[in-house]
Amino acid sequence: MTPTLVFHSEFDSFEQWQALLAPLLPHVRICQEQDVKDPDSVHYALAWKPPQGFFARYRNLKLLVNLGAGVDQLVGRDDLPAIPITRVSDPDMGRMMASYVLFAVLRYARDIPALERAQRECRWHYLHPRLPGSIRVGVLGLGELGAYAAQELARQGFDVRGWSRSPKHLQGVCCVSGLAHLDAFIAESDILVTMLPLTPQTRHLLDARRLALLPEGACFINVSRGAVVDQQALTEALSTRRIAEATLDVFDYEPLPPQDPLWRLDNVLITPHLASVAIAESAARQIADNIGRVDRGEAVLHQVDPVRGY
Ligand code: NDP
Repeated sequence: MTPTLVFHSEFDSFEQWQALLAPLLPHVRICQEQDVKDPDSVHYALAWKPPQGFFARYRNLKLLVNLGAGVDQLVGRDDLPAIPITRVSDPDMGRMMASYVLFAVLRYARDIPALERAQRECRWHYLHPRLPGSIRVGVLGLGELGAYAAQELARQGFDVRGWSRSPKHLQGVCCVSGLAHLDAFIAESDILVTMLPLTPQTRHLLDARRLALLPEGACFINVSRGAVVDQQALTEALSTRRIAEATLDVFDYEPLPPQDPLWRLDNVLITPHLASVAIAESAARQIADNIGRVDRGEAVLHQVDPVRGY
């Protein structure tokens, strides 16, 4: 029986993934759900937000690949099969994310929003450039994406600090770990970047109290998941300019509803959840590699721990 990989995504092109994976997996049939001939032949699933009950048909599933880096939509479900679950997270995706974070941090470090506002008023507004080393950038989450971004920021000369669950050692980054250090970490971040996965522990981690710890005039960047922050408290802090500026790529509800007050704040840059995407070309190699590992009975890479939530 030819093993089958079943694909499900309403956002990604099946034809593109099939074209990339087929040469790497010559012994595997790659198809969409409606074209599965024999559900027992399905050994692998490549899926983004599959519907409830999706897995029930596939009794011989050996590997589930989440078609993206964020697994918060997946790990909380009650119908997950007890098989290895991996996610797509490759260096190209990390580079794309790091470039977004660099852009957002440099924009604040060089006071570009203030200069843009001055230009709209035809006002010559000289602001003496600050040295990057005088700007403290705090990165919450030092995983595949966070560690990459933190090191790119360090290369630009910023005073970079990083926070994670377990201890980390990253060149040029002062790393701390654990909840006990979080408040002091926030209080010392002139620019705070959120790169944490959404889990029961990180939901509303940045609540009104913690947001109020940010230094006066701090800037805030969220590229991970909207619900890591109390969006209402953030909106209030931005309305009063207690937090000076924010770059937000992710929100409680997406698309962000037209009536949301965040749209009307001129100190907020809103982008529609595009800081980074799975780069199919490099991710396909990673997926094929993991399929080979499963077939050989080896441990997979980039495995998700459903209990930990990421
Ligand atoms: P990883 O799983 O590789 O890393 C997560 C990091 O967060 C780790 O450093 C982890 O700590 C830390 N962390 C998790 N829980 C806690 C906690 N309770 N307290 C402290 N630290 C914690 O994730 P990635 O770097 O690959 O991605 C991060 C998130 O970015 C994704 O989960 C996704 O939501 C989001 N994303 C957004 C995209 C966009 O376009 N906006 C695109 C892709 C991803 P430790 O190292 O100790 O495990």
